[in-house]
Amino acid sequence: MIKFRIILIVLLLLSASAFCDSSDTEEENVFRCAACGKVITKTAAVVDGKLYHPECFRCAACNKQIEGEYLRDTDGKYYHPACLERLHRPVCAYCGKSITEKKYITYQGSAYHTECYTKYVAPRCDICGEPLENSYITDYWGNRFHPRHTKEYPVCAVCGRLIWQDDGFKLDDKRWLCPVCASESVTSPEHARRLLEEIRAEMASLGIVVKTLRVRIELVENSALVKKQEPYTHSHTFAYIEWKDGNTKPGDESAVIRALYGAPEDFMRGILAHELMHAWQHENDVSSASIELLEGSANWASSLIYKRMYTKRGQFFLNGLDKSTDPVYGEGYRKIAIFADKNNIHEVLEMLKQEGEK
Ligand SMILES: [Zn+2]
Ligand SMILES: [Zn+2]
Ligand SMILES: [Zn+2]
Ligand SMILES: [Zn+2]
Ligand SMILES: [Zn+2]
Ligand SMILES: [Zn+2]
Repeated sequence: MIKFRIILIVLLLLSASAFCDSSDTEEENVFRCAACGKVITKTAAVVDGKLYHPECFRCAACNKQIEGEYLRDTDGKYYHPACLERLHRPVCAYCGKSITEKKYITYQGSAYHTECYTKYVAPRCDICGEPLENSYITDYWGNRFHPRHTKEYPVCAVCGRLIWQDDGFKLDDKRWLCPVCASESVTSPEHARRLLEEIRAEMASLGIVVKTLRVRIELVENSALVKKQEPYTHSHTFAYIEWKDGNTKPGDESAVIRALYGAPEDFMRGILAHELMHAWQHENDVSSASIELLEGSANWASSLIYKRMYTKRGQFFLNGLDKSTDPVYGEGYRKIAIFADKNNIHEVLEMLKQEGEK
């Protein structure tokens, strides 16, 4: 802002009569103060083309006379430079006092004394409770924490939460489930069977009908799944489907799905959709299609189930499919998903059948 300096002038005692003709009144030939309206007889301060009694030209902040330098603010009012500077100083949104230090913190559009911010305003780490400054991590679930904690605690194998309290659930391998996922664990055969039939019905309602009469489900330890991992992938660690020996006739055979003991129910729904899609592939003779197409469409079946959950967790599992860097499961899924965006479910199934014939 440009500082101005007051100009004082001494008015000549101009006699009204000397300048005007008889029709003019005396009124029109005197100088009046722009502040108090009274006649100025001797000295006047000239500001922006207006005249003031020097003692009438006052600071809008402290109301004391301005002599020497002044500033005009955007509101058009005049101030002592120091008064205006004080007025424009940021005020700490926590303590309400003005901030005189050069360094202060701006957070969500408000200014804070560094100390006020750190002690009372800064978001706290959900893990250690210390203030979070500079960079910190916010996970999908809204937990905020220092980056260093990611090296200190295990991560939930299903939802990605850090497990910093002693309430996780350890799988038989090195993986963990967080308390939220563990609270939804599927551990009983009845629970698993009920889920399987629910998902089978849900998929049928979407047009993906699995005809195989007897699909059994078993809950197994991780070690039983690891052995079954196909050589081309590392993603198949929650379940797999196997056909009973010698049964090859589609529509009349038995299959068994082995799924991870303790997997959370909502996640398990997606897993079962994936395995049931493999059953559909088997029944429809598309098993000779590319691995990318087979696993991609199985993940697409999971995505249909996750989408229908309308929950934050369902969305999280969907994001996992979208972001998977796996060349088979991730790439394959995205290819099918793009195709499915432009075509209906029936057309996706027809496309798979055609690919299987090649
Ligand atoms: Zn005046
Ligand atoms: Zn002032
Ligand atoms: Zn403060
Ligand atoms: Zn922390
Ligand atoms: Zn979890
Ligand atoms: Zn699969």
